[in-house]
Amino acid sequence: MGEAMARRQTASSEAPALVWFRQDLRLHDHAALHAALASGRPVLPVFVLDETTPGRWAPGGASRWWLHGSLAALAEALDTLGAPLVLRRGPWHEAIPRLVEETGAAALHAGILHEPWARRADRAVEAALDGRGVQTHWHRTATLFDLDAVRTRSGGVHAVYTPFARTCRALPPPPRPLPAPRHLAAAAAPAVDRPEDWDLLPTHPDWAGGLRATWRPGEAGAAARLRGFQREGLDAYDRRRNQPGTDGTSMLSPHLHWGEISPGQVWHAAAHAADHAADRGGTGPDRFLAELLWREFAAYLLWHHPHMPEQPLRPAYANLPFRHDRRGLRAWQRGLTGVPIVDAGMRQLWQTGWMHNRVRMITASFLIKHQLIDWREGEAWFWDTLVDADLASNSAGWQWVAGSGVDSAPFFRVFNPATQGARFDPDGAYVRAFVPEIAGLPDTHLHAPWTAPPLVLEAAGVMLGRTYPHPVVDLDLGRRRALAAWENTVRGAA
Ligand code: FAD
Repeated sequence: MGEAMARRQTASSEAPALVWFRQDLRLHDHAALHAALASGRPVLPVFVLDETTPGRWAPGGASRWWLHGSLAALAEALDTLGAPLVLRRGPWHEAIPRLVEETGAAALHAGILHEPWARRADRAVEAALDGRGVQTHWHRTATLFDLDAVRTRSGGVHAVYTPFARTCRALPPPPRPLPAPRHLAAAAAPAVDRPEDWDLLPTHPDWAGGLRATWRPGEAGAAARLRGFQREGLDAYDRRRNQPGTDGTSMLSPHLHWGEISPGQVWHAAAHAADHAADRGGTGPDRFLAELLWREFAAYLLWHHPHMPEQPLRPAYANLPFRHDRRGLRAWQRGLTGVPIVDAGMRQLWQTGWMHNRVRMITASFLIKHQLIDWREGEAWFWDTLVDADLASNSAGWQWVAGSGVDSAPFFRVFNPATQGARFDPDGAYVRAFVPEIAGLPDTHLHAPWTAPPLVLEAAGVMLGRTYPHPVVDLDLGRRRALAAWENTVRGAA
């Protein structure tokens, strides 16, 4: 921004423009903030914590922990620019109009969210502000493309990832990231909440030690994570992204979910690397771009199928005979199923708030198919425990594994977790890190301790049923039971 504009804004006593921060807790590449500044009005940055989300979709424990750190970082960055972040709590459709009333704001700039409740709230906010003659401006801050503009050749909504991704890549690329403002002409701030009063952090017990050790919420943490990945992970991404025992993926997902870095920033960083890698025959960066498009596809599916978090997108899957198995569910949640790769994943999730993508697929498949437990139980647990819990990616991921999504793995393709473990964690680094009580087993038996001869178990200090559980379900039996359930309901209904 030019000095002249900054001076004009500082001197301005005009009605302010409200900038409503949501899942875009950053200063770089923030279209709403940028547009508010360009309007020449003084700016009032605001975040509203709305816990009245319907159903079971109020922010989970791990999300609340992250949000605390992320808001603190954003507030500090805004303070440095001289514009304190106004924090409010309450239903969006009430809190935003009230704040407009209090401050005499003349305009609202906000990012578009994809959650169905957010879309309803946004319509209510817009109607309330319209009535007061206040302009509402919606900006794309959380996705790469306008989700209404990605269409099939006949103008329909894509149902399959590959043509969706092809259409995206044929569109003009996402705009170049916008710079962070260097000055903000701040409006006088009204009374604000303090995040400490919001009880976002766990107190008793404090389960967040592993989260603190793993993550640095906030824009600076996101930028550092991207730089590290560009330096050490991006070129080898296609080779290592399926190996949970290595740092083969970016771990950017919580930063992307909260918008501490925009998908456009990540896209351009990787696209630039892809151009260079292509010259050398490398495909790592391009493969990474494809994963960013999976995120986009999940947002797109939620946008066009708002019931995706609750209902199978294929109606035939509505009547699968899921079992009510509280003990089995509990064993899965705690990482005590007796199947090492599943337990390692579930413990990584509990300890760090994150799980490797390959292992998300394996643990989800084990719950839905081997245990025959409703995918919505797993979805709800992930929602509560993931720092990257994202309504679109989570529900799309669960429906993909359940086979009930529009573009999904077929239900009859049942992952064998022992084989998956041996294939993707061949040296056992991942399982040994999270399931130390079986670390002494040789690689040949590590992923299936029940196959180890008694002498091998004894030498490793493993007593099945005492130091480590027997599998909660026989893998072959579980597989056959799942296939029979599918055969009788889904295939029968087709
Ligand atoms: P990278 O491999 O480095 O990929 C870069 C980015 O691309 C990710 O940060 C993410 O934004 C996006 N991405 C990669 N794979 C996927 C994918 N399959 N679907 C959607 N986006 C993807 N992701 C979430 O962000 N939030 C969730 O709540 C979530 N729940 C999931 C539940 C299940 C059952 C499954 C199978 C997957 C889920 N995913 C979810 C997708 C994926 O597992 C994570 O995005 C990924 O593991 C994040 O790690 P990363 O940042 O290192 O990914």
